[in-house]
Amino acid sequence: MVPNWIEQRAALTPNRVALTYKEDRWTFLQLANRSKEYAQQLKNQGVQTGDRVAIYGQSSSQLVMVIFACMQLQVEMVMLNLRLSKRELSYQIEDAQVKKIIVQDELMKQLPEVDVEFVQFSTIQQVCEMAVPVNSWRKDSTMTIMYTSGTTSKPKGVRQTVQNHLASATSSLYNTGLIEDEAWICTMPIFHISGFSMLCKSILHGVRIDLYEKFDEEKVVAQLIEGSATRMSVVAVMLEKILSHLEAIDAKVSPRFQLALAGGGPIPKAYLQRAAALHLKVAQTYGMTETSSQTATLSNEDALRKIGSAGKALMFNEIKIEGTSEPFVHGEICIRGDHVTPGYIGQHAHLPTTVDDWLHTGDVGYLDDEGYLFVADRRSDLIISGGENIYPAEIESVLSSHEAVEAVGVCGLPDEKWGQCPAAFVLLKKEVSEDVLRAFCEENLAKYKVPKTIHFVDELPRNGAGKMMRRKLHELL
Ligand code: ATP
Ligand code: MG
Repeated sequence: MVPNWIEQRAALTPNRVALTYKEDRWTFLQLANRSKEYAQQLKNQGVQTGDRVAIYGQSSSQLVMVIFACMQLQVEMVMLNLRLSKRELSYQIEDAQVKKIIVQDELMKQLPEVDVEFVQFSTIQQVCEMAVPVNSWRKDSTMTIMYTSGTTSKPKGVRQTVQNHLASATSSLYNTGLIEDEAWICTMPIFHISGFSMLCKSILHGVRIDLYEKFDEEKVVAQLIEGSATRMSVVAVMLEKILSHLEAIDAKVSPRFQLALAGGGPIPKAYLQRAAALHLKVAQTYGMTETSSQTATLSNEDALRKIGSAGKALMFNEIKIEGTSEPFVHGEICIRGDHVTPGYIGQHAHLPTTVDDWLHTGDVGYLDDEGYLFVADRRSDLIISGGENIYPAEIESVLSSHEAVEAVGVCGLPDEKWGQCPAAFVLLKKEVSEDVLRAFCEENLAKYKVPKTIHFVDELPRNGAGKMMRRKLHELL
């Protein structure tokens, strides 16, 4: 058992600012009290401790209250992704067998017709007496259920327990420490583990979150320059927008800003070099829904020396490469630690997540001679061309370092002679010819890795977390 975090934090630092959203701000005590009012309203709607509900809302202070209210009651939360289609939502709602769907009023029309009761935010936000919260939380109880991004196959509902979130936040803190007046920019969606884990860390570490409804590079860059925030989490697309904006206005980041955690997928090396020139400290991280966020992180000091690495396992976590203990040998990345999920729900409930406590990630990578992890790619995205293994991420990294390229996705397409050949789908920010890009690849890549075809596209397929969906690239043809 652990004590209720929200209540304990409110008792420890009641008057410290916990959250800002648009013009408003809340202290930890205000959040705790307001969330108990929401909790009472949820109880009035028939939601009880141990129930499973789905939550569908944009990042906002209201959404934070709803989440905290569920935590106060120890209700399992299925975090629904706002970018999903009605069909995808139906699948998750049905798969998770939720009792109710708590939904932001304006988003009702985006939900599918399902045989589940809705509870609109407006019905639970009225001021009322405070519910009696659950004061001790079982470590093995499920706090959230998040569906994987569905990058490789059907999204799987991952159980994330109190223990998982606690372990993740603790390891993260051991890694970075805290300075005075921390303030974290949260532009990642809260329904995704990168955003949600920030909420957990805010309560557990007692730091302020500046919550954004959605990513806005101008506002974020303004905060970075003035030093009014200390940390943030980004995916590659966001990082690129921040860098481009800083370059366009010829500004540098304040030394008060500590770190941008960059994860969710490979970060092109060129971004890290550009970030260093702009004094933006970036730490590459490796994590997944099944590990409730980060498992490994590269410290900023090593950012350029070990460029391209995801760093070392955080305190209390372990990483091994299946089938080898030799450095530089590629194999499946396996992870062990208290942050690893106990399992999936619904139709994937039967799938084992661990073997002897080791999570088999489906990602291929290697450890170098100093124990730094290099994530090569997903096993399922590997392109085998004439017997040679090609990792799409490597080609993407090279192409995205070209000044005319904004973003790129690479996948294998069937080829009569070689079995498969890499194809690149490129989103440009400046005019450039296919020949120039091919020549650039030839300079930087072995011949068999040079994309056989380069396609210019207006948009790359991305999921709710901003991740590129390689398995949908061929649909652009
Ligand atoms: P699904 O499991 O449904 O296919 P998904 O794996 O994309 O979807 P997430 O849990 O959101 O769902 O993403 C985790 C994955 O993201 C990791 O397994 C890995 O493939 C990729 N990833 C995360 N961080 C990095 C990184 N630093 N470098 C390369 N890949 C990364
Ligand atoms: Mg996965």
